[in-house]
Amino acid sequence: MRTKIKDILHAKKIVGQTVTVSGWVRTVRDQKSFAFIEINDGSTLANLQIVFDSSLPSYAELLPQITTGASLSVTGPLVESPGKNQALEIKAQSIHIHGPCSAERYPLQKKRHSFEFLRTIAHLRPRTNTQGAVLRVRNALSFATHLFFQQRGFIYVQTPIITGSDAEGGGQMFRVTTLDPMAANKDYSKDFFGKPAFLTVSGQLEGEIVACALSDIYTFGPTFRAENSNTSRHLAEFWMIEPEMAFADLPADMECAESYLKFCVKYALEHCFDDLEFFDKFIENGLVQRLQHVADSPFVHLTYTKAIEILLKAPKQFEFPVEWGCDLQSEHERFLAEEHCKKPVILTDYPAQIKAFYMRANTDGKTVAAMDILVPKIGEIIGGSQREERLDVLEKKIAAMGLKKEDYWWYLELREFGSVPHAGFGLGFERLVLFITGMENIRDVIPFPRFPGSAEF
Ligand code: ATP
Ligand code: MN
Repeated sequence: MRTKIKDILHAKKIVGQTVTVSGWVRTVRDQKSFAFIEINDGSTLANLQIVFDSSLPSYAELLPQITTGASLSVTGPLVESPGKNQALEIKAQSIHIHGPCSAERYPLQKKRHSFEFLRTIAHLRPRTNTQGAVLRVRNALSFATHLFFQQRGFIYVQTPIITGSDAEGGGQMFRVTTLDPMAANKDYSKDFFGKPAFLTVSGQLEGEIVACALSDIYTFGPTFRAENSNTSRHLAEFWMIEPEMAFADLPADMECAESYLKFCVKYALEHCFDDLEFFDKFIENGLVQRLQHVADSPFVHLTYTKAIEILLKAPKQFEFPVEWGCDLQSEHERFLAEEHCKKPVILTDYPAQIKAFYMRANTDGKTVAAMDILVPKIGEIIGGSQREERLDVLEKKIAAMGLKKEDYWWYLELREFGSVPHAGFGLGFERLVLFITGMENIRDVIPFPRFPGSAEF
């Protein structure tokens, strides 16, 4: 039976025990009377060293085929390693090569490749140290997400990926259609769903439906935005976690969001320490310390109005000018989190005109009960709000924003039939992975990134 390298290194398999290990060759060093082979199986960052002795009958035949990228299984006893880089190694008794790998053609040779180049070989990219570490952290954070919400009694719900409501994003949505793409004057009443359909930009409105029955729910699914933004923080397809809580107000929403982020950070520190140390060493110096600080200290709370005052006094020239009522750009968000507060900041009470129609109106008549969480290096990681639960206020808001009441008939009925105060937020999963790994570009924290001009793999 095969043993994973992680189990050998972490579960401290006993020296002398014979094991079979399978993986892909990272390096081979031919020392004449024997060879050192390092293999990796993706279960952990570390490679396992194999000592392949020339006294084995298969040595001369197999060694030339054991090249970087080849896949093999090795059986032999675990022995203490005299080398200083590892505690254990395998003394090979037999080696089976599953798939050889052309040394001339294999693109992943020893040198470090740029992340841009690695995106062009997304089929081999998971075999690099960085992508392997990203994918293990991503996995841990998905699990941590479910753990956090399940422990709090939230119900996981699946909201639709194809939606008939173009209510939220307008121009930012991908259309789903079976009509002939070449036809002029398309008649959407003849389309598959009998009306225009799109890929969802958020599961929130449907999430609210379920929360207004099961109390606390969360979604965790793919989300699509056709915004043509070639930034390091936007994808056309990304994953979003959207909790929604009935009988909850904005402070409860903020408490949940802050606890969730901290839970994820602690979970990664506890369960992915090797990978985080790797990121600390090669991607962002000081990462582990930054994360420990995030886990241990309370987030800063500021109103939007106060943030505008800070930005106006900032000793810095922004590309986009700041005034009360403007939508904050990522340079402003980053200044607040990175330079002014030096930690995550929760901004609240944004002007109504820059936020969505469903956010609850404050008594000042100008602002809404919204909250965004901004973090160093990234800017916005979470956007949330208390929802408008008052039917009359919501109807006026829909009219004032030039939206059609008919498009929201079911959303309005939730306010007519047993309405409750409720609140929720959306967290972009890839931005969380960026935050916790210190990676720079969102295209490198999802295995198959979708962005303008790219959907090869
Ligand atoms: P931004 O201003 O950064 O574009 P947004 O205001 O459009 O974000 P929301 O609509 O509030 O964001 O979405 C909730 C969360 O989803 C954001 O806080 C962010 O973490 C994430 N998010 C939004 N757009 C994208 C995208 N194109 N790619 C990846 N994550 C995204
Ligand atoms: Mn956006």
